[in-house]
Amino acid sequence: MTSRPTIKPWIAGIHAYVPGKSTGKGGHELVKLSANENPLGCSPIALEALAANAGPARYPDPDSRALRGKIAEVHGLDAERVVCGTGSDELLNLAAQAFAGPGDDVLFSRFSFAVYDIAARRCGATPVEAPDSDYATDVDALLAAVSERTRVVFVANPNNPTGSFLPRAEIARLHAGLSADVLLVLDQAYAEYLAPEEDDGGFELAAAHENVLVTRTFSKAYGLAGERIGWATGAPHLIDALNRIRGPFNVTNAGQAAALAGLGDQSFITATRDHNARELARFSDAMAALGNHGIRPLPSKANFVLVLFEGALTAAAALEALADAGYAVRHLPGQGLPHGLRITIGTTADMDAIASTIASAAEAAQ
Ligand code: PMP
Repeated sequence: MTSRPTIKPWIAGIHAYVPGKSTGKGGHELVKLSANENPLGCSPIALEALAANAGPARYPDPDSRALRGKIAEVHGLDAERVVCGTGSDELLNLAAQAFAGPGDDVLFSRFSFAVYDIAARRCGATPVEAPDSDYATDVDALLAAVSERTRVVFVANPNNPTGSFLPRAEIARLHAGLSADVLLVLDQAYAEYLAPEEDDGGFELAAAHENVLVTRTFSKAYGLAGERIGWATGAPHLIDALNRIRGPFNVTNAGQAAALAGLGDQSFITATRDHNARELARFSDAMAALGNHGIRPLPSKANFVLVLFEGALTAAAALEALADAGYAVRHLPGQGLPHGLRITIGTTADMDAIASTIASAAEAAQ
C-alpha cells in the first residue's frame, strides 16, 4: 500500500498546458499578445448582455437552447446537431474521451494545438504526431500515420501555432482517406478570420458524414475568451456522445447571453476580420523585409503570425526585447519551436511597435 493516492501513469505523462503570459520578469503588466485574443475586445452588444445578466443565483440552461438556436440560424445548421461547451477546449477533450481510450491512437500534426496531446493522454490513448510540411499540416503525412489503432484525428484549420490553412480540397482528401470509423475533429477556432470564400467545407462534411465533428469558439473573433464558450456540430450520435459526458451546466448564464448577443452583431465580426487582415498583411510584410537577418514570418490565415528567428537574433532574445518594449508574445520551446515566436495581431500601434522593436534588435544582433 502506498501512503498517498497514486496518479494514473497516463495522467502523470501530461505536461500541463502553459497559458500565454501577460507579465514581464518583474511582474509588471505587458500588452498581452500571447493568447490570440481580440485586440478590439468584444461586441458592445455582447458587453451589454453580460452587464444585464442578473442570474448568478440560478443554474444556466443546461442545454444552452437559445444559444444553440442562434448558432444554427447564423450558420445554417440544425440546432439538434449542436452542442455547447466550456470553451472549445472542453469539447476537444470530450471528443477524445468519447471515442478513444487505452490502446488507441489519437493523431494530429506536429506543431498543432497543444491541447490535442493532453486530450489524448487524459483518456489513456496514445498521442501520435504526423510530420509537418514546412510547419504546415501535411495531409499525406497524416494519412500515412493512420493505423488500425487510430480512433481520432485532430486538425486545427487554420492551425495554431503555425497559422497554416488547408483548403477545402485538402480537407476533403483527408476525410476521404480515413475509414468511416475514425473520427475527424476539425477545429475551426480561427475560422472567422477567413474570407467567406475560403471556407474549408467542414460544416458540409459534418452534415453529410457520421465521422466529422467541427468545433468553434467564441474566444477569438467574438472576443469572449474570458466567458469560456465553444460549440461543436456533427452527426446526432457524435453530439449524443458529447452530451453524455459534458458538464451538466457547462456554459454560464452570462456566457450564453453574451455569445447569443455576439452572434447577433456580425458587423463586429466583419470589423474584426478586416482589422486582422490589414494588420496581419502589414506585419507579415514587415517581418519578411527582415529576411536578410534570418527572420521569416510563416504565412498565416489566423489572428497571429509565427515568426521564425534563424539568424543572429534568437527568438529568446527577441522575446526579451519585446518584453522590454512592453509586449508579451508566445515563445513555444516546449512545442519544438525554440526558434519561433507566435505573435497575436494587436492594434495598429502595437504592430508598429513590435515590428520596429524586432528590426532594431535584429540590427543590434548583427
Ligand atoms: N483550438 C485552437 C486551435 C486554439 O488555438 C484554441 C485556443 N488557444 C482553442 C481551440 C480553445 O479555445 P477555447 O477553449 O477558448 O474555445
